[in-house]
Amino acid sequence: MGEARNHRRLKERQRKAMGAQGVKQVDVQINPADLESCKCSNGSCGSELFEKAHRIKTVSALHPKNPTQKDIFADFPVNVCRVCGTEFKAE
Ligand SMILES: [Zn+2]
Repeated sequence: MGEARNHRRLKERQRKAMGAQGVKQVDVQINPADLESCKCSNGSCGSELFEKAHRIKTVSALHPKNPTQKDIFADFPVNVCRVCGTEFKAE
């Protein structure tokens, strides 16, 4: 029993040691003016402005991984071009 306790204490000590040196705060300073704006993928548009929209997907009540026996609606935030409405997708 004493051994088990010692073992746990050792684990805790290891975890603390890792916490102290494992995660380092990296100070990254980026000026937004230096970054390139993403453009609408619709070639004839090329707008740089997007708005938030919601893509809604359903998980059917009949889906084997749906335990609720009701349709589930899942909300996915997307960005759409403010000019032509094309959805933004990172390439
Ligand atoms: Zn567009």
